[in-house]
Amino acid sequence: MKNKGKQIVLVVVILIALAALVKSMGQQASYERILVDTQANKVFVKRISSNAAVEYPTSSPFSKGNNAYPALKCLNCEAVFGVKEKPIIESTEEMPASPQVMGEITPPTWPKCPVCGAVANAMVPVLPEGQKSMDVAGPVQLIEAE
Ligand SMILES: [Zn+2]
Repeated sequence: MKNKGKQIVLVVVILIALAALVKSMGQQASYERILVDTQANKVFVKRISSNAAVEYPTSSPFSKGNNAYPALKCLNCEAVFGVKEKPIIESTEEMPASPQVMGEITPPTWPKCPVCGAVANAMVPVLPEGQKSMDVAGPVQLIEAE
């Protein structure tokens, strides 16, 4: 029967679609973040799992030890600098931990450029298309996140 063959094909197609869906949902459990390695003077993309809290500095493929911070680029003087983010643990004892809060990657305060002093004039640096890392002029400065 031709009909039965069609049904089997349909079931197979649905199974493949389901498998692809599960796979893509699994991939959403991580996100990419632009970091700067203060030792190697490299800006690079790091894939971070959203299931675990990340503490900065974190490891970098370009140097030994933990030298990578979330990167920002000053729109005024074009300097790339790192942000010393504090782990998001303290002062939330009364609130139940929400997994959604962990996914937020916006800086908590407006950053100030450590090179030229411009305030609220920085954005996450953009890597050239197709590249996962790029050199930046060092030394890379760091700012404290409040
Ligand atoms: Zn600047």
